[in-house]
Amino acid sequence: MPFTLTRHPFPPRRRQVRLAARTDLVPRAADGAGFIRIRLQSGVPLDGFTSPGAGDHLRVFVPEAPEWASVAVDDAGHPTAPSRTETIVAFDAEAGWVDLDILVHAADETGDAGLIGPWAARAPLGSPAMLADPKGSVVLGGAPVAFVLAGDDSAIPALRRYLGMFGAGTPGLVLLETAFDPAALGVAVGPGVELRVLAPDPARPSAALAAELAALAGEPPPAASPDVFIFACGEQSLLAPARALLAAWGIDVEHAVAKGYWKRRAD
Ligand SMILES: Cc1cc2nc3c(=O)[nH]c(=O)nc-3n(C[C@H](O)[C@H](O)[C@H](O)COP(=O)(O)OP(=O)(O)OC[C@H]3O[C@@H](n4cnc5c(N)ncnc54)[C@H](O)[C@@H]3O)c2cc1C
Repeated sequence: MPFTLTRHPFPPRRRQVRLAARTDLVPRAADGAGFIRIRLQSGVPLDGFTSPGAGDHLRVFVPEAPEWASVAVDDAGHPTAPSRTETIVAFDAEAGWVDLDILVHAADETGDAGLIGPWAARAPLGSPAMLADPKGSVVLGGAPVAFVLAGDDSAIPALRRYLGMFGAGTPGLVLLETAFDPAALGVAVGPGVELRVLAPDPARPSAALAAELAALAGEPPPAASPDVFIFACGEQSLLAPARALLAAWGIDVEHAVAKGYWKRRAD
């Protein structure tokens, strides 16, 4: 088996941080949608913080809008503020910072623009937040013979880290459901890798990805099943077609990464 996925648990840690910088990765749309890289800075080194896996994620506890002045905690100092899960883009434990790429989505039909998007987009620099370290890491060892990476905007940071791990010449297919320019978000593929950019339907997020995965399930796998790595993450509805593809290609669910990264609230 040329590649392995090994799960490593990490001890729970919380960190006080501040919003230290924000960079627009794409121009913000009139409806407020965008993609923003934020830097969260601690006043001390992030002792023990690590992120060996491409999909490693942490939780960010966000202060209350509109002041974004403090993160609610209980008597024991544990955060009671709402939080969101985000993928680690880059970090420097010694220097005490972590970078995250946050999709800022337009408000849905109910007017809900979300929690972390508006904070990332508008909170004053210096605004406090709290981090909970990754609970663990799924580390890909060795090298797959071929890969399929499927994701929406929320999965771009993980998908990009996976792409960076594969050696040049590994054939692959990247299915990306996004309205943004993939190059602006750092998604670049080398020779032998096909990038298919799929237009999102806001009323049916991840439906375009699901259709592509369903079509793939009707085709033979590009290599013997244990040698193909599949990552499929997006809106919750992507899970069923992702699992169906794994079943069709004879890939164990533990030997792949398939997750709902978010759930559409309005139906
Ligand atoms: C393991 C993991 C890793 C993740 N990594 C990232 C990451 O690196 N970057 C990132 O941006 N997100 C990532 N997510 C998704 C993230 O947890 C949040 O769902 C996302 O940031 C939206 O949060 P919000 O507070 O802005 O919106 P929410 O309060 O969660 O949602 C508000 C409304 O916006 C809609 N909405 C939510 N997300 C989207 C979306 N992606 N597209 C369109 N509409 C949406 C919902 O339908 C909802 O009605 C990840 C999730 C998981 C589980």
